[in-house]
Amino acid sequence: MISCRPFGETPDGRKAQLFILESSTASAYVTDFGGHLVSFNVPDKNGILTDVVLGFDNVVPYAGSVGYMGATVGRHANRIADGKFVLHDITYRLAVNNGPNHLHGGQEGFNHKLFDAYVDGDTLTLSYKSKDMEEGYPGNLDFSVSYRLTDEALELTYKAVCDKDTVVNFTNHSYFNCDGALNAEMVYGQYLTVYADGYCRSDENGLANGEIVPVGGTEMDFRKSTLLGSRLENPTGDIKATGGIDHNFVLAMKRGEMKRAAELYSPKTGIRLTCETDQPGIQIYTANFTDEDSGKGMTHYGLHSAVCLETQNFPNATSFSYFPSPVLRAGESFVSRTNYHFSAE
Ligand code: BGC
Repeated sequence: MISCRPFGETPDGRKAQLFILESSTASAYVTDFGGHLVSFNVPDKNGILTDVVLGFDNVVPYAGSVGYMGATVGRHANRIADGKFVLHDITYRLAVNNGPNHLHGGQEGFNHKLFDAYVDGDTLTLSYKSKDMEEGYPGNLDFSVSYRLTDEALELTYKAVCDKDTVVNFTNHSYFNCDGALNAEMVYGQYLTVYADGYCRSDENGLANGEIVPVGGTEMDFRKSTLLGSRLENPTGDIKATGGIDHNFVLAMKRGEMKRAAELYSPKTGIRLTCETDQPGIQIYTANFTDEDSGKGMTHYGLHSAVCLETQNFPNATSFSYFPSPVLRAGESFVSRTNYHFSAE
């Protein structure tokens, strides 16, 4: 069942709505402003509904937020070197909005757009038409993301088609905390698994530098369920260098079959979230810059208070021909799926 209510007005006067998706076990709240996942309530080990994503009580902080909390990110998630890329010998210049690089679609990415909403049975589809050269990207792009909640999972489907060859990389930027968003302390007591044998290294600005290295024997080996505190409290290596985890893990070298990507588990609530995707990569980001005072129910969200599980193509794939290609050809349909499966034990 999907219902809808007002979610307030952005400072520039856009009226947002909040869509409430309910299954017999869970509920998910999604706003048409930036396609943000606002709340995701899943049963804990005692059957008590627990909200496992950080977020805000109305649209205003989403319009100003720099943390992409729950956002739909586009046209291109993560960083692109120097805010430019070359396609068919043409150099496209994008906003440089993160140090010397482009991040998460630019000055006004999809996270700041009001989407058209369409409800069909148990599926909410949010769509947005991004104009040719918006934020510097070529082609008129028809984009949609749909949300469907079942008794076991929240399922996201991204679709896009463009009238010119272009580059795309979409993700959802939810900050997950399996202890619950209302008790969003540091996630050091939670366990992370990442089903990846390799990860992309990055430079001092967090930009993927083209190196793909095996996780084996490094602080990035999360192939077995690992207590996050054991890697974040006294960090070493690349985790120390970035002040937490902020890296793309390699799931595959191209988009393909659905597979398990990562899992977050809280022994406190017994909630386990399992992220599955057909995307080649997942950015694991442990809220390394977070300092938000106006969280839901006036909660403060601090450093390392959540884990983002951003399924995506590899960051900065516009710079390296051996990375999975971000190119979407004119008229071709892009379709990609990510599921957040929940259980409690
Ligand atoms: C990036 C971080 C960035 C964050 C912004 C993540 O996807 O990897 O480096 O600071 O988004 O919230």
